[in-house]
Amino acid sequence: MKGMLRPVGSRVPAPDSGTGVSLPWDTNYHTWTMGSGTQALSAAVLLAISRSKVKNSTPEVVLPAYGCPDLVTAVVAQGARPVLVDLLPDSPFMSYELLSRALSDATVAVIAAGFLGMPEQLSLLASLCRERDVWLIEDAAQCFPPDCAREPIADCAVLSFGRGKPINLMGGGALLVRADHSASAADVLFGLPEETLNIGWKWKAKRLVFNFLLGRFGYGLLRRLPFLGLGTTVYKPLLDLHRLQLPGGLLLAGIRGASERSDIAADYVRELGFLAQRGWRAFMAEELSGGRRAGQVTLRYALLAPDRGIRDKAVDALNDVSIGANAFYGAPLPEIEGVFDILAGSAGECPNAKSFADRLVTLPSHEDVTGADASLIAATLDKITVQHKK
Ligand SMILES: *Cc1c(COP(=O)(O)O)cnc(C)c1O
Repeated sequence: MKGMLRPVGSRVPAPDSGTGVSLPWDTNYHTWTMGSGTQALSAAVLLAISRSKVKNSTPEVVLPAYGCPDLVTAVVAQGARPVLVDLLPDSPFMSYELLSRALSDATVAVIAAGFLGMPEQLSLLASLCRERDVWLIEDAAQCFPPDCAREPIADCAVLSFGRGKPINLMGGGALLVRADHSASAADVLFGLPEETLNIGWKWKAKRLVFNFLLGRFGYGLLRRLPFLGLGTTVYKPLLDLHRLQLPGGLLLAGIRGASERSDIAADYVRELGFLAQRGWRAFMAEELSGGRRAGQVTLRYALLAPDRGIRDKAVDALNDVSIGANAFYGAPLPEIEGVFDILAGSAGECPNAKSFADRLVTLPSHEDVTGADASLIAATLDKITVQHKK
């Protein structure tokens, strides 16, 4: 049987014995561990609503038109209305112009979602948010460390410890609340139920199975089970919101694992540079060479193909040589099943998000990707793009 290099995901760590070590954002943010990243984000929206002066209309939360459907889930769960903003051309980030126009008297928060390890333009967004007295929520589910560990710009930040995230604890998340909001947030968050994660033999056995399935052989097996719906993007409502007590050493082990992980991104930048002359956009390479992201985990390495046809062909060709490349979400949020009904036609046009969704290719960049894989990917893309050259 043919194995497959998984698209994303790092091994679940064994808990550290060490306690009392501080988290990288401890000076400026208080950490509330939660049942999941979506729950943490929903709790952030809850805080934004409870502090806002919007009383007689449905509160609105602004988010990017391309991204994780969990953003919509988290907003809807608090009775708020998601307002989508189109992206900048060839970028995963929101257009500042359109964002400023999307803010209304009912806006309580803006969600600035980092993308595959690249934080949003937080300082730019923060000035606008401050001016309009709305909260800036950094969604760092795909980033580690979060940008707020560098500078306390966002009012709060969200981490996810789910599979396929920079720190994989098989679930859980965290809400980081900036010190100036600490007391008022505690009043609200202590009202949420609390559960405790028990890392007994069941958890340990699950960890072993999970880590086995991350290997090339294990992932090859997993892909053959279509009922798992692996990699499909669907909208799921949020049915539960609770705090989750994690054993102290588990998060620390996850942080250590993430900071010690090798990074293949530089190999990709070098090996795939030739694609620029063939109409591809290496937007992530541009970000990496800016040096803004030193020490950050690259969750996947992403590129934009010239069009959807070439993108689909690239993904198929890479899958044929056992590389778990994919299109990620595959569509802008209004076109994701389940989200369309929630937006009820309120979403305007989002041509940039659509083009981004149509052309995005993501390549694995986890700890098992080797230099040989990067070369194989380059050779494979070389073949299919030569055929497309006009
Ligand atoms: C995965 C993800 C979430 C949700 O995290 P879960 O722990 O899976 O609930 C939220 N936002 C973004 C950007 C994500 O990628």
